[in-house]
Amino acid sequence: MKKILQDLTLEELTALTLERGEKPFRARQLFEGLMQGRAISELPVSATLREALLREYEDAPVKILETYVSRDGTKKFLFLLADGNIVEGVLMSYKYGNTQCVSTQVGCRMGCKFCASTLNGRIRDLTAGEILGQILAVNRAEGGTLKERKITNVVLMGSGEPFDNYDNVVRFLRLVTAYGGIHISARSISLSTCGLVPEMRRFALENIPLNLTVSLHAVTDEERRRTMPIANRYKIADILDACAFYFEKTGRRYIFEYSLIAGENCDEKHALSLAALLKGRPCHVNLIRLNEVKERELRTTTEKEAYRFLGILERQGISATLRRSMGSDIGGACGQLRARYLEEN
Ligand code: SAH
Repeated sequence: MKKILQDLTLEELTALTLERGEKPFRARQLFEGLMQGRAISELPVSATLREALLREYEDAPVKILETYVSRDGTKKFLFLLADGNIVEGVLMSYKYGNTQCVSTQVGCRMGCKFCASTLNGRIRDLTAGEILGQILAVNRAEGGTLKERKITNVVLMGSGEPFDNYDNVVRFLRLVTAYGGIHISARSISLSTCGLVPEMRRFALENIPLNLTVSLHAVTDEERRRTMPIANRYKIADILDACAFYFEKTGRRYIFEYSLIAGENCDEKHALSLAALLKGRPCHVNLIRLNEVKERELRTTTEKEAYRFLGILERQGISATLRRSMGSDIGGACGQLRARYLEEN
């Protein structure tokens, strides 16, 4: 694979074009063209520069391979990377705008028992430009421009563990929030982690005040170890401390993801323990009924049980919502789309 031009910041592009004897304004032209989702071969630059770039860099590092549209308007995408790998993403439409879910790795090595992304382990990390490229490709396909973006919010909840690919993810965050680019503010971005404590603490010092989201899915370390191998490495107490540190440094409240799994984590006692654990913390809980993955044994709860769980949290004074599942008719939530595509092709 060649290098990826979309990995570069405007400053780095400027250095690169000046080195090649181009005028400084060329760099901004290049950057804007790339941020509009154009391939190098479509950029409005001199033929010499274009050819020089194409020798070293991938022409179009992220291409939309397939688009699936749900009755509720949700779209799912399969993206083709330059080395033939495939990742998936989702675009959800809400009253206030469009949220795109992006992948940060091909596969994942965290091994969560309910998740389809981790079935074949981690294949490789995505570069910053490949993470960004998913957004640029979708914005363009949806008819968006840099001035009139079709993507208003971003969640790092596709395949991969963002903090297992720390440097590329932080670079991506600097690129996606940069002036002159697609310029999505950190406040409109959510990063979800299974709870890599050292990286959570390190990230608190990066000065990127986004919505830090932690996948909890259990109330005790012992129960958490049953579904999330990472719980053998980090304790819930240390995760909560790292969240408090994030709040201290950024002033941003944090969010816990809690997927309801039948017979595992959604009895009344779990709801009460969860409330006790989180009481008084500046946080919010996102409940979601497990998306059943056919290769996995775990089953989801009924809707009624999910609302009961939510009710208990609310009565205990915990801010919580039950996320509705979107796009279920086009299948493939949580890494299942790629798995199915690879199986069929
Ligand atoms: N690696 C990150 C991002 C993962 S995906 C993390 O662990 O947070 C985003 C969320 O979907 C996580 O909370 C993850 O635990 C959850 N998830 C994965 N598979 C799921 C499934 N089958 N049903 C419901 N939630 C799932």
